[in-house]
Amino acid sequence: MLKGKTALVTGSTSGIGLGIARKFAAQGANIVLNGFGDQQEIEKLQADMRAEFGVQTAYHGADMSKPADIEAMMHFAVDKFGAVDVLVNNAGIQHVANIEDFPAEKWDAIIAINLSSAFHTTRLALPSMKAKNWGRIINIASVHGLVGSAQKSAYVAAKHGIVGFTKVTALETAHSGVTCNAICPGWVLTPLVQQQVDARAAQQGLSNDDAKKSLLSEKQPSGDFVTPEQLGDLAVFLSSDAASQVRGVAWNMDGGWVAQ
Ligand code: NAD
Repeated sequence: MLKGKTALVTGSTSGIGLGIARKFAAQGANIVLNGFGDQQEIEKLQADMRAEFGVQTAYHGADMSKPADIEAMMHFAVDKFGAVDVLVNNAGIQHVANIEDFPAEKWDAIIAINLSSAFHTTRLALPSMKAKNWGRIINIASVHGLVGSAQKSAYVAAKHGIVGFTKVTALETAHSGVTCNAICPGWVLTPLVQQQVDARAAQQGLSNDDAKKSLLSEKQPSGDFVTPEQLGDLAVFLSSDAASQVRGVAWNMDGGWVAQ
């Protein structure tokens, strides 16, 4: 479906971003990976995608908190593959603390990585998408773009922000073949969430399995984690022709979290 197109996924060396990148590769898109990690492991992720899906891959280690790095990454992708046709803004971090204890530098980092980076990638990707009259921008928000949770002030603010930014991007591209939508996952068992499972296990003296169950039972009625593969399939659908009139939505995939 996406042969000849290029998908750039920020924060794709792990978790949801990697799951999404692999689903785009399965559709034939060339892939630009981004994120932190061991260089050999990142090379292996790319080699696996090239071997499994017969696509081309590239990697740029831009730090999404740095606008100059983001600019360099976007130029790198165009130099390598000619354009960014599908942009997935996924990189994100979390910090959990009450507002009065929340480190100011953590607030700034979360706003920069989880929100402002999407402004920078989008402003740099849009001119060529508009010129080609085709593009897909998918912002990985969260259920926390729709509802709040205590102790996640910066994250909830950034995710509500990106849902708003998604709507404006969709309106500014409404008369074109470029669409922009947000995906709002509930709990997905990635390193970002495993840290919260570990903290709960330590605080409450629970096993890893019981800490996972306790985390899920508080918020996610299905009692199961969403998977990166399911989110990748939704991202692929949003990139299909069938979804060309899906514009500016915040689509939750959350085991019923926001239905409550
Ligand atoms: P993860 O920790 O597994 O992956 C995060 C990725 O972002 C990694 O590749 C990491 O290297 C990269 N990254 C972190 N800081 C970066 C920076 N400064 N510059 C470039 N890359 C950076 O996390 P995940 O759970 O896969 O989260 C991915 C996205 O999904 C985030 O935006 C997160 O908020 C969102 N999300 C996650 C969940 C969940 O339950 N895991 C739920 C809803 C939304």
